[in-house]
Amino acid sequence: MTTSNLPAKQVSIRINKNDSLPDNAQWKNRFEIKSSSSNRVYIVSQNIANGHMGCSCPGWRIHRNCKHLTALGLPGYEQPVTLNINYK
Ligand SMILES: [Zn+2]
Repeated sequence: MTTSNLPAKQVSIRINKNDSLPDNAQWKNRFEIKSSSSNRVYIVSQNIANGHMGCSCPGWRIHRNCKHLTALGLPGYEQPVTLNINYK
């Protein structure tokens, strides 16, 4: 029994076109987000193989969830998602 047949949650987000980044081998729907507590910039993206979201911040790297995903309404913990990006 795996979770791969569960319907993915659908989330629509709105981001600045200037913040979007090209796909790479492992990640698509990539875009930059600015840290609220420093001048760092992190990259939020969707794993092509598994459909889950990731973030380049230390929180996600350790916990597989972070405030950036939460703020965007995106699921953490490597849950797959159907992502609709609207550019502004
Ligand atoms: Zn993050």
